[in-house]
Amino acid sequence: MRMGMMDGGGTGPYLQIEHVGKSFGDFRALEDISFDIHDGEFVCFLGPSGCGKTTLLRCIAGLEYQSEGSIHQGGVDISWLPPSKRDFGIVFQSYALFPNLNVADNVAYGLVNKRLEKSHIKERVTDLLSLVDLARHADKYPSQLSGGEQQRVALVRALATSPGLLLLDEPLSALDAKVRAHLRREIRDLQKRLGVTTVMVTHDQEEAQTMADRIIVMSHGRLEQLGTPNQIYDEPISPFVADFIGVMNFIPVIVSGTSSIRCGQLSLDCDTDGFAADTPLNGAIRPEDIVILNSAEAGSNVIEVIIHDIEFLGSYMRLYLRCAMMGDHELRADVPKSVAQHLSVEPDRQIRVRIPPESIRLYRDAI
Ligand code: ATP
Repeated sequence: MRMGMMDGGGTGPYLQIEHVGKSFGDFRALEDISFDIHDGEFVCFLGPSGCGKTTLLRCIAGLEYQSEGSIHQGGVDISWLPPSKRDFGIVFQSYALFPNLNVADNVAYGLVNKRLEKSHIKERVTDLLSLVDLARHADKYPSQLSGGEQQRVALVRALATSPGLLLLDEPLSALDAKVRAHLRREIRDLQKRLGVTTVMVTHDQEEAQTMADRIIVMSHGRLEQLGTPNQIYDEPISPFVADFIGVMNFIPVIVSGTSSIRCGQLSLDCDTDGFAADTPLNGAIRPEDIVILNSAEAGSNVIEVIIHDIEFLGSYMRLYLRCAMMGDHELRADVPKSVAQHLSVEPDRQIRVRIPPESIRLYRDAI
């Protein structure tokens, strides 16, 4: 049962952000942001440092007020409500547990404030700590827990009153890589099990891609793209998104026909998307889309390159390739380790690669 005061209820979106802008003096931190979040969805705000993601989260929590626009939660206009009148639980980057309270009392904090019966609180705290496998640590103090354990306590503390909305502000960034990867899954599983609508701020694209149902990519206070992790990766709307999510090769190209482009001396087939001949564009190719060939195979979009450098990245190798016909532009190609070994790739070797026409995206703008 939810104790929250705003229960999604209807079929409309659970959280509605409409034309939200925020100024700090002369500085515009947010510019005309609008989107909806559905009941039970996990949405990540993703973007580089300073793009406004924390400011937007703080506006949703009422820790900051927007300069323009409105915010509705569960159909209620919460734009000007103070945090205490809103229905959310929040977890910050620094664990922010009360150091002088033990784990059980930290989790019970919000429940005690609601003046619930002691026996009910005890039962609920035990249930919550069991959810994150920490029931046996109930009597410990925060300083006696690891960072990951503290963050799990912070998580169930935020969920204790069954809020309608869970807000996570870079909750994993203070943890080491292994703990972070483990907690990603734990948070995600818990969120799905409880069905609580969740918004998480992160600058880590891998974190957003593994956890979110939908990602909102932000840049300079604006919403750049909103979509599922697959959409954002496969159909980045701008060079900024293409570059920020995953790795991307960019090469300057010129449209040479309805289905061909030129880069230096090199002509490549690709759908030119209605761009007129002679238009200068930015061509983008994912490293994993470049196919290393094992013979003197010729054909469309097959080019000769020199392996300039090789990076070993665990299960795959990243080859740095140079093609004389393309001028100085370097291409990165990712190859599974087994394929690289089979083809005996090594620096200074000349090889042939194919750039599939459908893997080339064209953008008018630079990054
Ligand atoms: P990070 O990942 O580094 O936390 P962010 O995307 O969360 O970045 P915000 O914290 O939202 O960015 O800040 C957005 C911009 O607004 C930054 O340039 C920041 O300096 C500015 N800003 C944030 N809070 C204030 C404030 N209280 N007064 C003035 N400027 C602020």
